[in-house]
Amino acid sequence: MNKNDREKLKKVLMGQLKELQTDFNKEVPSLGTNSPLADINDQASLESERSFELRIKDRERKLISKVYEALKKIDEGTYGICESCGEAISVKRLMARPVTTLCINCKSEMEAEERREETILQTGGAANQMT
Ligand SMILES: [Zn+2]
Repeated sequence: MNKNDREKLKKVLMGQLKELQTDFNKEVPSLGTNSPLADINDQASLESERSFELRIKDRERKLISKVYEALKKIDEGTYGICESCGEAISVKRLMARPVTTLCINCKSEMEAEERREETILQTGGAANQMT
């Protein structure tokens, strides 16, 4: 990765961080409305809406820390190196997903592994019956 790429990616990350922080600072709708029209169904949907919001917040918070991590790595000069195999991650991949810490090979290997585990979980019962 050359200096230009690094600068470009740093800008992308900074932009992402700003966007995330703006989103993150938005208020989560509070529970319980004072409206006399709010019946029990409204309350329930409000509650599920709130837990949905909180889940998003949780994801945002994690992503924010990933972006911080990436920016720190840029400053340290370790950015763009796969955490699993130590190979350089392609700039094209980093541009598409600047917070990634794995090269495409390790990532697809990991995903294949996850899929295998899922398949085992889903078919575990059936497979046992067959044997
Ligand atoms: Zn790798």
